[in-house]
Amino acid sequence: MDHGKWKEQAACKGYDVELFFDKYEEEQALRPAMDALCQSCPVMRDCFANGVSLKEYGVWGGVFLENGKVSREFGRHRTKADWATVWKSLTTDG
Ligand code: SF4
Repeated sequence: MDHGKWKEQAACKGYDVELFFDKYEEEQALRPAMDALCQSCPVMRDCFANGVSLKEYGVWGGVFLENGKVSREFGRHRTKADWATVWKSLTTDG
């Protein structure tokens, strides 16, 4: 995979990156908007795969990761239905 190219198509291009890191942690009210943005992102799967493989921290592919693993703490605001939508998007084509 070209590690830079997918970022060109990112829905968050031009956004304050802190929205996906410290601000996501600190301002719970912001999380649904960030979640929705990622859910609409055409490179959601590339983003998630990079976050996991590089053992990243912060929001990757719409999922808050800690050391490349799904964070329980920062995913707790989501409903089961919301998670189902996320996993479906991350694991199926199109
Ligand atoms: S999935 Fe979210 S964090 Fe990743 S590139 Fe898309 S909008 Fe940005």
